[in-house]
Amino acid sequence: MALTGLEIFKLLPKGNCKKCGMPTCLAFAMQLAQKRAKLEDCPLVSEEAKEKLAAAAAPPMRKIVFGTGEQQVQTGQETVLFRHEEKFHSPTAVAVTVPDTLDGEALKDRLAAVNALQFERVGTHIGIKAIAVVNESGSPETFAKTCKAVKDSGNLAMILVADSPVAMAAGVKEVGQSVPLLAGARADTAEAMAKIAKESGCPLVARAGSIEELVDLSEKIKAAGVEDIVLNLEASTLSDQLYGLSRMRVLSLKKVFRPLGYPTLSLVTGGDANQQGAVAISLACKYSGIVVLDTAEPWVNLPLLTAVMNVFSDPQKPVQVEPKVYAIGEPDENSPVMFTTNFSLTYYTLESDVENSRVPSYILVVDTEGTSVLTAYSGDKLNEKTVAQAITKHGVENLVKHRKLIIPGYVAVMSGKLEEATNWEVMVGPRECSMLPRYLQEVWK
Ligand code: SF4
Repeated sequence: MALTGLEIFKLLPKGNCKKCGMPTCLAFAMQLAQKRAKLEDCPLVSEEAKEKLAAAAAPPMRKIVFGTGEQQVQTGQETVLFRHEEKFHSPTAVAVTVPDTLDGEALKDRLAAVNALQFERVGTHIGIKAIAVVNESGSPETFAKTCKAVKDSGNLAMILVADSPVAMAAGVKEVGQSVPLLAGARADTAEAMAKIAKESGCPLVARAGSIEELVDLSEKIKAAGVEDIVLNLEASTLSDQLYGLSRMRVLSLKKVFRPLGYPTLSLVTGGDANQQGAVAISLACKYSGIVVLDTAEPWVNLPLLTAVMNVFSDPQKPVQVEPKVYAIGEPDENSPVMFTTNFSLTYYTLESDVENSRVPSYILVVDTEGTSVLTAYSGDKLNEKTVAQAITKHGVENLVKHRKLIIPGYVAVMSGKLEEATNWEVMVGPRECSMLPRYLQEVWK
């Protein structure tokens, strides 16, 4: 919990020497509390005070990182219970299992299916972030061999799921340099698993059936020297798990209860593929930082990833595309030109309908700060001046020899002023862009 000015003051040297630029230590403490000054500005502050102040200033939920390079996964560091309060920082990382009972062609097929779970949605890449290797065989050697096969199959981050410290050590020996997440430690294996995590520098999952047990376990692991911890609450029903994860979130963020100040992981391995998808979406919403599924079905993973994308978008920043001219197909100087706004959903809906028309076209995207056509028009971000400026800025006159501009049917009202501002002939397009293919084929000649 953030310290008050007076609490900070108690930790300062109280010399009133003014070296920090403040007239008194109390004034400096007040500035620190409001984050308007830095502790380093006081050259006399003790190491003990520095440690206490740094600990108090630490975020309520620790950021945990695993994997390496571009495929590194970040989870945690959340600051709010509800997205609209600010935003969520770390989208739920989706992982899919690979059991170590598979080998040969079956293992190859599974790895190909799992690594292929990458998609494009409204111009953004989404995909699973990790592969969870599960020690179902019980054999350390088999586990290590499968870990290596997974590592060699691609770049995705890894989660090693093993109850036996011996198996975990064997897996880490094989792929430890990839910084996998180790899942994990239970009450009876905490010491041995913490030793493996500490020596390898890998984050460790604490696994227990109740919040109270998780608190004990995370404190034990931390005392053993492991700072990077992920919590796995193994509740018996989904409702218990959602309730438990919500309580943990409140305790970590609102009460700054450090033993629960870590991101969470949930294993969604029971039920059929449909059930796994539904459960995983619920857990991504409240409040699982990582969900691990058994199913590698694209039709389960794509909706899950889409839900994560939507829940974790910044509510203050609409998803935008770059304002410029987009060529759909291979348009030439006789091709139609139409405009829309740079709100991603609007643009990609239009792009898809233009593609369906099979009429090569230019789409001019006007910068409306990521708002849709009607919102931008109502807010005066889309008007004859902004469209005329966009035509000039992006050199549309040089792309076509005609001077005809198709505008969205919803803003037909701006036709007159737009013709005056641009000297282009305005053609009012359909109100719904699903009607655009027919419009381009029948009205545009
Ligand atoms: Fe107090 Fe440190 Fe500022 Fe001196 S530099 S007035 S000791 S806070």
